[in-house]
Amino acid sequence: MTIDLHYTPGQNAFRTEVRSWMQAHVPKTPLKSLDTLEGAEQHRQWERTLNEGRWGMVTWPKEFGGRGCNLVEWLIFEEEYYRAGAPLRINQNGIFLLGPTLMEFGTAEQKAKYLPRMAACEDIWAQAWSEPQAGSDLAALRATALRDGDHYVLKGHKIWSSRAAVADWAFGMFRTDPASQRHQGISFILFPLRHPGVRVRGIPQIDGEAGFAEIYLEDARVPIANRVGEEGQGWHIAMATAGFERGLMLRSPARFQVTAKKLVELYRRHADDAEPGLASVVTQAWMDAEAYALNTYMTATRLMAGGSIGVEASLNKIFWSEMDLAMHRAAMSLLGARAELTKAAPDAADVGNWLDGFLFALAGPIYAGTNEIQRNIIAERLLGMPR
Ligand SMILES: Cc1cc2nc3c(=O)[nH]c(=O)nc-3n(C[C@H](O)[C@H](O)[C@H](O)COP(=O)(O)OP(=O)(O)OC[C@H]3O[C@@H](n4cnc5c(N)ncnc54)[C@H](O)[C@@H]3O)c2cc1C
Repeated sequence: MTIDLHYTPGQNAFRTEVRSWMQAHVPKTPLKSLDTLEGAEQHRQWERTLNEGRWGMVTWPKEFGGRGCNLVEWLIFEEEYYRAGAPLRINQNGIFLLGPTLMEFGTAEQKAKYLPRMAACEDIWAQAWSEPQAGSDLAALRATALRDGDHYVLKGHKIWSSRAAVADWAFGMFRTDPASQRHQGISFILFPLRHPGVRVRGIPQIDGEAGFAEIYLEDARVPIANRVGEEGQGWHIAMATAGFERGLMLRSPARFQVTAKKLVELYRRHADDAEPGLASVVTQAWMDAEAYALNTYMTATRLMAGGSIGVEASLNKIFWSEMDLAMHRAAMSLLGARAELTKAAPDAADVGNWLDGFLFALAGPIYAGTNEIQRNIIAERLLGMPR
């Protein structure tokens, strides 16, 4: 497929519009971590401001709070967003995962009910799929949603749910047929997190903040209208959601291009005492970030021409997670002993941000499906190797 890497006048004008809005509105002082209650509130406020400018989710149709942009415009938006140093998106699981899923599988009522509130960050969404015995092997999930009149009664234990400690709603996977096995009999159901029968318990991470949570469902009742798609179609829908997650939206290239640029600047400041070999690691990181951007433009071009994301979503996920880790490892090496200073340390300057980034990058090969599992998928479905 041929990709025209020149921007059109319309795209350039769009970039200018995003840039000037960001310059005027991005908070001048960094917000507190979105994994804390105070930080979450600040991020919610920021997302409201974004939405007031109609920048909440630019690819969505106008009636849901978007601008009807295409994927190339979305990439431009992301480039300007990260360039401006704008805050991380607290509602990323909503806007990047559930949003596209509802667009494809939701009813008109569900779209009207959930999408505008999601764009405005009135509701922060969490993903409630993993269970203590069902992570990589998600089809082993055991939580149930059994019908009682016009409601489902939810029962089970979900875990590792990012930002559930501060979120309002979750999209979960439940067995609606308790006798079913593996991928059959699963449904995709939305449930509120502050609700009778729903207990959320934060799990402190390595940095001490409760970045994710476990969710206990103890006979929580939700209307049948909260189910997305048909009963029993949950696995199929979830795999489409996972495709959005791994393939395109969750980690846009701009995030890594900004990190690569900062890494080059860091290297320049420490070049004199840098370990031998780090120059090529830093150069490789910069090239990888550029290559990832070009590859994403190629995926976007293909999708705009009516194509879909397939197994290459797994290649993509491995690439960005390993690249992110390599960049942060290089930064840690460049900083030497100072790398361990936390943000609160008097002498930390920007060192603490690298440490935070490094700790989060460590999770990249795990969340959104571990890289070992992605390699299995590539081996079997792309290379045709035996199970
Ligand atoms: C930061 C972070 C955020 C997360 N956010 C969410 C979220 O919002 N919602 C949610 O539902 N979940 C979330 N998760 C959970 C994540 O999806 C799971 O941790 C992941 O799927 C792995 O499952 P597990 O932890 O049970 O590990 P296991 O499945 O027990 O795996 C343990 C190890 O064994 C390997 N392994 C397992 N099976 C195979 C196999 N067949 N072949 C080769 N190797 C294998 C794995 O790769 C891994 O290294 C998050 C995780 C992290 C770290």
